[in-house]
Formats: sequence, structure tokens, C-alpha cells
Amino acid sequence: MIIVLRPHVTEEELAQVVEQVRQLGLTPHISRGVTRTIVGCIGDEDRLREVPMLAFPAVETVVPIEKPYKLAAREFAAGDTQVSLGQGAVGDGAVHVIAGPCSVEGEAMLLQTAEAVRAAGAAALRGGAFKPRTSPYAFHGLGSEALDMLVVARAATGLPIVTEVLDTRHVALVAEKADCLQVGARNMQNFALLTEVGESGKPVLLKRGLSATLEDLLLAAEYVLARGNPHVMLCERGIRTFERALRNTLDIGAVPYLKRETHLPVLVDPSHAAGRRDLVPALALAAVAAGADGLLIEVHPDPDHARSDGDQSLRLDGFADLMERMRDVASALGRQLAESPAQLLRR
Ligand code: PEP
Ligand code: MN
Repeated sequence: MIIVLRPHVTEEELAQVVEQVRQLGLTPHISRGVTRTIVGCIGDEDRLREVPMLAFPAVETVVPIEKPYKLAAREFAAGDTQVSLGQGAVGDGAVHVIAGPCSVEGEAMLLQTAEAVRAAGAAALRGGAFKPRTSPYAFHGLGSEALDMLVVARAATGLPIVTEVLDTRHVALVAEKADCLQVGARNMQNFALLTEVGESGKPVLLKRGLSATLEDLLLAAEYVLARGNPHVMLCERGIRTFERALRNTLDIGAVPYLKRETHLPVLVDPSHAAGRRDLVPALALAAVAAGADGLLIEVHPDPDHARSDGDQSLRLDGFADLMERMRDVASALGRQLAESPAQLLRR
């Protein structure tokens, strides 16, 4: 249930409404827009029906939310949520590009990639320290050593770092080092992990599961939000369908759908969708055109020798070219690429 307040209510009027909601045993979530404030209520909605909320002078309407997710629903917030990433804010209308290798393979390759993606205008650096792999015999990442390399790369470039956390036992460690915790496709419904990253209070990049519906994705986000962590970004990365030509099927319609359905930022990962370097640029451009708030793109200085996902990783020059083309598509639609940390510092 959401309680929409009249424009420009006073703090005192707001407090009265919030107090009434609490007394009924529900949890109020206040969301302030430019002119209007709304109070989302989580709990037994029947209790709220017992009280004539419209009798409060501050209350304009009371609207039920007939959806399984509440905190993630667009109606629950007064505007778009912005998630801080370093100096930037994903969801601010610009296109934020997060780029870097699938796995952190060593300090030199990471620094080389970080410098190159920063120079091309990326807003953040990605890199896997703990890797989920389909085979138990594949490379599983350099673990905490790789986290330290990411910290070095952040210090060298100013780029905030995004890295995956696979296991509840690693949340505190990854949260201490990274700016944003990635929850991967295979863990989208690992509810213990979602709860733990919710508790961490850190920005979370939540990837859509391989065969998850958009409702499943929003309910997974709800787990993080319900722990009091509002810093959640969603990421469409391709789903498994009957089509086998590409690694996954990029559900581009998910972008405009999610933008309507939720106030959370929506990102696209064209790399895991395509599975092939030559197809990544077209999918990335489509994502910008579809209204994505950001992209997650795999980039490697020597993809032929990458320890994971080399086939789909862009080379450094290919990434720089793509950034130019994304800039053009964004500007054709009246949008722009987010400023890189270097540009933000110069201001
Ligand atoms: C990744 O980003 O490298 C990754 C493992 O992604 P996903 O969870 O989408 O497969
Ligand atoms: Mn990968």
C-alpha cells in the first residue's frame, strides 16, 4: 500500500502519518520527490484499511500495490533511484559504462585494462576475483589477491570497482574492498547471499538469472531492498532460450519494461549475451537506444589468452571505438555518456 501525500506537506504532517502507520504495525518507507512525498507501507495491509487515512489533511490518496514486489515497484518511490558508484550516480539519466576483464588475471593486465577503459571514458572498472564457472575444473579467479589488485587499480585510475561476490562467507571481505558487489546470474536466487549483500549496505549489481523471469528478478531485488539496502541496480545479461546461435538471448524488451516497472537503474551486459566479440557492439548500441542506465562490458588486453570469456571480450581499441559509437547513439537520443572520474575531478 502506498500513501501519496499532498504537495509540500510539512515535516510535522508527514510525522503524523508515519506514526499512524507504525502504530498499525506496518513499516513505513518514506520517498521524497521534488514536490511530493510518498509513504510506502510494508506489512499487513488489512490493518491500514481499518483506519480512514484520507482523514489526515496531508494525505491525498491511498493506493494498493497489487504486485508481489513492493519496495522495487515504481509506485513505491517518488522518482528514479540513483545508485552511487564512485563520484557518479547510476540512474541520473546518463549512460554509465562499467568495463574490464572477466577475471582479474594479474596486476599488470588489470592496470593496463583499467588505464585504457578510463582513457576511453568508462565510469567504473569491473573484474572478477571470485569466478562462478560451469565446470569445477575451470579457473575460479585469484580470490582475495585479485581484490587487492582491484584496489591498486582504483588508486591508479580513480575508477570505482565492481566485482562479484559468490558466497555469503566472502561478503564482508568483498564489501571492504569493492565499491559495488555484483551478484551473478547463477546466484540471482541465492536468498542467503541476497540477504547478506542487503545487510552490507553496499551498492549491488544484480544480474538476471539464466532462466529467470523479470518478476523473479524484481523479487530477488526485493530481498536486498527488504534488508534496508536501497542501492540496487538490475542487469539484463541474456537468458537461455531455444535459440543456440548466440551464447544467450539478449532480452532487449526487458529494458523498457523494467524502466516502467521499477525505479531502480537498469543495466545491460552485452558480453555474456553475445558470447562473441563481433556481436557485442551491436547489442551495446541497442541497449543504449533502449534506454539502459548503464552497460557492463568485458574488455581484455589480449583476449586470445584470457583465462575466462576471451571470445566475448573486446580488445582495448575495440572498446574505445565502441565508446565513440555509444556516445553518438546516446546523443542522437538526447542522452550522454556519464563523465569518467577524470572528468569529474577536473570540474
Ligand atoms: C561475469 O560478469 O563475468 C559473469 C560471470 O556474469 P553472469 O553472472 O551474468 O554469467
Ligand atoms: Mn565473464
